[in-house]
Amino acid sequence: MRRPGGYGVTKEPGKKDIEEDSFTCAHCNAIVFVTPFQHPADAGGFCTMCMKPLCKKCAALGKCTPFEKVLEKMEAEGKLADDILKRG
Ligand SMILES: [Zn+2]
Ligand SMILES: [Zn+2]
Repeated sequence: MRRPGGYGVTKEPGKKDIEEDSFTCAHCNAIVFVTPFQHPADAGGFCTMCMKPLCKKCAALGKCTPFEKVLEKMEAEGKLADDILKRG
């Protein structure tokens, strides 16, 4: 399996390193954590339109609204910079 969108290792003294895989929902940009070797579809869903993993919420919607498309729309409306500033 291809490396999901994010990867983190939590180190705790005296404990085995906990490895966490995560991916970014292609539709709403939510971070979804998956246990190692878990298929994204089991952690959320998978969009067959954009061939990317989704969070449970977007998978339940059953339609393709990729975040990149939302971004494009926001850029077109000139709201992107404003939004980034608000997020800090
Ligand atoms: Zn989502
Ligand atoms: Zn999609």
